[in-house]
This record gives sequence, structure tokens and C-alpha cells, in this order.
Amino acid sequence: MTALATPLHTRTAAPRPDPFASLNDEQRQAVFHGRDGTAPPLLIIAGAGSGKTLTLAARVARLVLDGADPQRMLLLSFSRRAAQDLQRRVGRVLHQALGFGATQRAPELPWAGTFHSVGARLLREYAERIGLNPAFTIADRGDSEDLLGLLRHEQGLSSTHKRFPMKGTCLAIYSRAVNSREPLTEVLQQRFPWCRDWEAQLKALFRAYLAEKQRQCVLDYDDLLLAWWQMLQDPGFAAELGARFSQVLVDEYQDTNRLQAGILLALKPDGQGLSVVGDDAQSIYAFRAAEVRNILDFPKTFEPAATVLALQQNYRSTQPILQACNAVIAEAPERFAKTLWSERNSAERPQLVSLQDDAEQGAWVADEVLAQREQGIALKRQAVLFRTSHHSAALELELMRRDIPYVKFGGLKFLEAAHVKDLLSLLRWSQNPRHRLAGFRVAQLVPGLGPAGARKLLDGIAHAVDAVAALQAFRPAPGAAAAWRELRECLAAMGQAGAAWPAALDLALRWYRPQLQRLHEDAAVRQADLEQLQQLAGGYASREAFLAELTLDPPEATSDEAGPPHLDEDYLILSTIHSAKGQEWSSVYVLNVVDGCMPADMAAGSAEEIDEERRLLYVAMTRAQHRLQLLVPQRFYVTQQSARGDRHLWGGLSRFVTPAVAAHFDRRCSQRVAALATAAASSPVLDIGAQLRSIWN
Ligand code: ATP
Ligand code: MG
Repeated sequence: MTALATPLHTRTAAPRPDPFASLNDEQRQAVFHGRDGTAPPLLIIAGAGSGKTLTLAARVARLVLDGADPQRMLLLSFSRRAAQDLQRRVGRVLHQALGFGATQRAPELPWAGTFHSVGARLLREYAERIGLNPAFTIADRGDSEDLLGLLRHEQGLSSTHKRFPMKGTCLAIYSRAVNSREPLTEVLQQRFPWCRDWEAQLKALFRAYLAEKQRQCVLDYDDLLLAWWQMLQDPGFAAELGARFSQVLVDEYQDTNRLQAGILLALKPDGQGLSVVGDDAQSIYAFRAAEVRNILDFPKTFEPAATVLALQQNYRSTQPILQACNAVIAEAPERFAKTLWSERNSAERPQLVSLQDDAEQGAWVADEVLAQREQGIALKRQAVLFRTSHHSAALELELMRRDIPYVKFGGLKFLEAAHVKDLLSLLRWSQNPRHRLAGFRVAQLVPGLGPAGARKLLDGIAHAVDAVAALQAFRPAPGAAAAWRELRECLAAMGQAGAAWPAALDLALRWYRPQLQRLHEDAAVRQADLEQLQQLAGGYASREAFLAELTLDPPEATSDEAGPPHLDEDYLILSTIHSAKGQEWSSVYVLNVVDGCMPADMAAGSAEEIDEERRLLYVAMTRAQHRLQLLVPQRFYVTQQSARGDRHLWGGLSRFVTPAVAAHFDRRCSQRVAALATAAASSPVLDIGAQLRSIWN
């Protein structure tokens, strides 16, 4: 792409209508901020649905129209989906402003992505200069956990009589320390006090983990940020990268961690060309070391201080929905008080719905969704949100039974399916033969090659100077020889296919298909997933780009579930609340608004954790434009991690729906609950009576 030296708006002959005409005064101020030449850093801090993301997109468009080079704009968002959405919005404004026809395309923004994916790209590009092997592979959280598990075992920590933290906890501790930049002692003291006695062993484990990653030439998620940050501690690299991006713009800034803030500061030490937007009331990632102080302290980080703009008008929700949302957040110890108002009047208030159990909840949602569709609200404009992925299980069954297509975000990940993992491991291993976990998995797919044989092979590779030669020279036990030869030839061919992508994937599939048939009874269903993967692969320029993107931001649905609907088909959205950030739908249903689910049992510890759960409910509710239902099953299923097994619990309405909040809702219930409530009124012995009365009174 060529640099846009001539401002785009001067290139068009006829004057175009002002593309920013529909923005309000504060939004326009943000869009045109710094146009007079100076560009002090900019912070937009405002409530949900006030147009923060839209304003950020409009600002990018304005900068491009004024002549900024799209190649030099770094746009950071929290998910690939959000980054794509931002890009689309910028494209729309530019398209309109430039008076383009249907076939013309607005300039693209090649540097729009998540912190992690941009970090991965930059590290790959700068690898040789910073002493990193450019063939590094990226380990997803599952891989990192597995590696820690392996090392934990090797260090004899799995057999200690006093229970050493599980591999998932080890990773959480490690990740917290890296992302928060806090010393391990402090992290243990404050976040994981029950693991305090293991500090020395954890330190040794983490040292081994670092060494092992280095040996295998693997970076985990945290490394992508850490290595990027470290690179920027060198003044030369910081200046080079800072100059490379004339503008750095960040959405959802309230959910960045200290490392991410450090990266931004190193890129733009005086804040010139830096714009961030966010809402402290929506910070929901403290459990992943997000630091709400980043946004609160942003203005005074710079000299001169950043310009702070607030947006007051909510354009998303009707006034009754907004009032209910405001009531929820009013009970939080808020830092930046915001008053949001909406012009969208409506007679319909949000609804609080009592249901008997989660099966009835599923049926209720299916009924409501279909009824809404009858009224012209497409399935795609409706979303069901929940705290934790497995909360939607009963609903999913109901949707499948009724043939209602849906796509689930934040749920069972495509990449977690065994066959997808097999194939990706093969791709990773062929890219980086030192990737021990990938190799261990693939080698054992060879009939006759067990864990011992695989270990021998991988040890040989680890100690060899030429990893590829060591792999090719390996000779397994005679029983596995023929099958091993096939894999070896496949790997050699994939290596030769080298740059030709996606040819390497075709080769991998050719080898893997017979294994799939042999290993899985439902091979045909799984084959469909692999075909989907093949289709996705075509959209990437290289194996590295494909693997990096898929590891960092995997597609969400697998055909193990409902089957990904065709793109032009209508489908209902199911999403965890965390994955629903920044989005909006006409109708929103929030499942399980009961204590134990919201707040989640596991998070109901400290006051800060409870506050974060309240903000989660706020985020869920503020996604709704016209219709909002909070669902309250009286009985729900809890999966216990303890030896007691699964059990049913009698739920109580979430503590966040206080009487002051409930006053903003209309109450509804299923017929069965109504009958039970009547019975309960005359029979105080029934446990459910008290629960129901707490809702009805
Ligand atoms: P969140 O906090 O949930 O991320 P947000 O502040 O980023 O929300 P947006 O998603 O940018 O808000 O905007 C919410 C909705 O309001 C979108 O549908 C957007 O198109 C619309 N909107 C924003 N500003 C205006 C405006 N000036 N005129 C009309 N619609 C607007
Ligand atoms: Mg937004």
C-alpha cells in the first residue's frame, strides 16, 4: 500500500457530505482532537453504549482522510472479532467520505489486532535482531499448562504428601506475576495465599518452565507481551517502533494490564499520537491481571497531561433498560461517576423471569427467541449471555431439539477438539521440530509408537544440533517402522512445501485422514471440522500466520455441537459475558442470574472479586438495545470439583438484583413456577417458598 501523502479529502472532486455529521459535540471533539498540529494524548472515558468504539473508528477515519498512512496506524483491541469490527467501522466511514462505489474498497488497516497478535507479528519480524529464533511457535494456554504439568511431575512435585498447586494454578500464578509485573512473593501473598509455602518450589518450577520453552523454541501468551515489552526497554528499538507507528489507538483500555500499559508508554513516552478509550465500570478482567488504574491514572502519566473527554449520551439502549443498568452500577463503589441518558423511549421495561430449573430456562429462551423472530427480530439480533460456558448446556440441548441454529462464543473451543489438536500439532511440529509437546502428540499417532518411543525420538531431537536430520534419522521398533516412514515422509514433504501455503496443510491432511478413521468412530463428523480448518487456512498468507492467529484467537464453534451455520443463514448468538464485550443486540437474555452463578461461587471471595462480578452483570445488561430479560431458575445444576460430585442447588436471586434494582423490572414467571408459588404460600415447609418470596416481594 502506498503512503497517502496527499490528504484523501482533497483528492475528491465534488464536496462530499460531512461523514461526521451524525456525531455529537463531544464525539466530534474527540475525532478532531489534535488537528491543529499538536496532539496531546487523548482519553475517552465513558459509559456503555456511548459511542466510544464508534468515535475511535471515526477518529482513525479522520486521520486517514487528513493524510495519515494507514500502514502506520496501530489499532489495538481485545479480540480479533473486535479488531475486525473496528476496521469495518473505519472502512464504512472512509467509503462514504470518499464517495466510493460498491466495488471500490477503502484503504485497509494492516496493523489492527489484539496486543498478543500484534506482539507475535512484531517479534517474528524483529526476531533475528533480538536474538529470538524466528521459527518460534506459540503455545496456547492448554499447551502451557501441559508443559508445566510435565515439569511439575519431573521435579517430583506431583507426589508430595502436602498438595502442590495443580498445573492450572501454577500457570495462573506465573501468568499473574508476568502480567502484573509483581514479584512472586507478593502475588502469592495477595492472590494465592494457600500456595505461599511453596514459593521456593514454584520458583524452581518456573525456572525450569522458562528453560524448557527456550529449548523447545516456544513462546507462551505471556511471553508475547513480555518479549515485546523487553524489546522496547532498549531505547533504540523503542524509538524505531515508536516512529514506525504515527498513531496508536486502543479500545477497552480498562482491561489492559501493566505490561500492556508499559508497552504503550514505551512506544509513545510523551503520549503524542496515543488515544485510548474505555469505561472503568466495565473492567472485568482483573482476574487476568487487568489493572483498572491504567485508565484512572492515564491523564497524569503524561506531561502535559492527557486530554480527557467524557461522553454522556447512550445511543444503544432504551431509557428503561438504561435505568436498570444504572441502578446496578450505582451500587458499586464507582470511581468515575457517569450519568448516561438515552433518547430512546420505550414503554417496555426489562423483565425479571422466574423459572423452575435450567431445563425450563432453556425452553423459555427458545420460546421467546422464536416469538421475537415472528415479530421481525432476526435470530442474529438476539443473544443469550452467561457467566460460564457450561451454563448454556441445557439451552443448547433445547436449541438442537428444535433445530434452532446458533453459534457459541467463548465456549468449547474448536482447538480443544482432539482431532483439531492433532492436526495443528502436526503443523507446529513440522514448523519447529523442537516443539516437544506437539511432537509428543503426533509421534504417538503412529501405530506401534508409544510414549517411551516418542520420548526417545524427542530426546534425540532435543540433543541434536540439526533437529530435522535427527528426526529423519530416527528408527523406531520394527513394528512401527512402516507407519513411521509414512509420517517421516509427510514431514519431509511438508518441509519442502515450505513457503507454499496451504499446500503443507493438504499434505498433513492426507497423512492424518487414515489416522482419523482408525482412531475415531465419528470420523465423518470430525472430518467436517478439518474441512472447515482447511477453508480457514486459505485465508492466511503463511503457515506461521495461520498458526499464530489460530492459537491466539481461535474460532469458537465446532461441528461437535450444532454445526457452524452458513454465513448467510440466520442464527442465534450464545456467548459468555466476557466474550460479549463491546457488542450489542436487539434482545438480550441473561441466564442464571442467581447467587452462585452471578456472582460465581468461585469468585465470591474478596470484595474486589464481588465488585468485578457486579460489573460483569452490568456489561451483560448494557448489551441490550430494546429488550432485556434476566432469567432466574429456582434450581440449577452445579458441577462440583470436589469428591462430592455434581449436585442440585436451590438458587437465590443474585445479590446484585437488590430491591432498588428490581424496582426497574417487570416480573414474569413460567406457569409451573406460578403454581409452585401458590403452593408455597400455603406450605412454608417447602424450601423454594422462601426463595420465591424473595423475588415476588
Ligand atoms: P461499549 O462500552 O459497550 O463498548 P461503546 O461506548 O463503545 O459501547 P459503541 O458500540 O461505539 O459504544 O456505540 C453504541 C451504539 O450507539 C452503536 O450502535 C453506535 O452505532 C451508536 N452510536 C454511537 N454514537 C452515535 C451517534 N452520534 N449517533 C447515532 N448512533 C450512535
Ligand atoms: Mg465499545
